[in-house]
Amino acid sequence: MVRPTRASIDLGALQQNFRAIADYLRREQEAAGASARAPGIIAVVKANAYGHGSARVGLALEAAGAKMLACADIEEGVALRRAGVRAEILVFGALSVSDLAGVFEAELTPTISSPSAGRALQQAAAARGARLRYHLKIDTGMNRLGFRHDNLRRTLPELLASPNLELVGIYTHLGTADAPEDPLFGEQRERFVRAMADVEGLGGRPQVRHAANSAALLRDSRLWLDLVRPGLLLYGIVPPPLATTLALQPVMTLTSRIVAVKGVRAGERVGYGGRWVPSEPAKVAIVPAGYADGLDARLEGHGVVLVRGRRVPIVGSVCMDMLTIDVTGLAVEPGDEVVILGTQGREPMQRLDAREMAAAIGTIPYEILCRIGSRIERVYTAE
Ligand SMILES: *Cc1c(COP(=O)(O)O)cnc(C)c1O
Repeated sequence: MVRPTRASIDLGALQQNFRAIADYLRREQEAAGASARAPGIIAVVKANAYGHGSARVGLALEAAGAKMLACADIEEGVALRRAGVRAEILVFGALSVSDLAGVFEAELTPTISSPSAGRALQQAAAARGARLRYHLKIDTGMNRLGFRHDNLRRTLPELLASPNLELVGIYTHLGTADAPEDPLFGEQRERFVRAMADVEGLGGRPQVRHAANSAALLRDSRLWLDLVRPGLLLYGIVPPPLATTLALQPVMTLTSRIVAVKGVRAGERVGYGGRWVPSEPAKVAIVPAGYADGLDARLEGHGVVLVRGRRVPIVGSVCMDMLTIDVTGLAVEPGDEVVILGTQGREPMQRLDAREMAAAIGTIPYEILCRIGSRIERVYTAE
């Protein structure tokens, strides 16, 4: 049984996106005449693979050639291993208050982003007689996780001296990669270069360095280093406001079906609060998808869906389990397909993606994708 509202996840598109990014990195590196190898890809599958389902997505990326995946916490890493993923799995999150057993049992590669996390992992590794490979996170100005870039001589020696821990990677994360005018982006890059030299000076010899999320990957090849860390691009969405010539396809299509159609008289009120009041006789259709499915309440009066190849507005309140669309003048009936994200025809107007939906309600496409609810079944296709 599958509910009428479902998310189709095109694993073929996902794999093509992965390859398109890999090809792009290779081509650009060659065009630059760089003798260096093109960077590898850490495929980011945190938050249930941005709502797409991390088990199937992780396996599909691995099959497409991904050598390393990244997730947010130990629990997500364990879930990937249970799904059968064998590639290296980097855990981004802070682990100082986590149950660390999963790191060892699922053979995850943790990030160490503070002295206390380093101590906790050293202790856990020593207790198991294990040697644990880790990536070191440097905070270059986002002021979130990581060792401060300007304080490493004081904070790092203890970690580097930990007998059961082996530094294999070093990275930072950029706070303004999607803001082309913001000077912090360049400052973070310069600070990371200095921090890498400092780590080296302290005797740290990481094999790989990485910094670029999707936006930085598109913007500045100086940040590609040894590995890049795209998330959103893999799912076929370009981080706004950036553009790219990369041939990417949205991986998720969200569809439903009309379950009821009814006429509304001029001046009558529709939905909670009765906020939509047509001035002419109107026809509305009910779609069984609401905020419990992750559709934002702010779509009321701002969002559109596709029905019979036409864009029709979401009117009245988005309810917990359903929403209302204005289908006045259209011949529609129960059972008709409703596209919430995806295409219904070949025209540009017959295409809706998470970036457009996000713009309509003042949020980011990441949030649109991640919030698609657990009630919505993911149906996987490999075209
Ligand atoms: C989420 C995340 C990424 C991927 O970001 P996108 O903008 O989706 O490409 C990369 N690195 C880190 C540390 C992240 O948390």
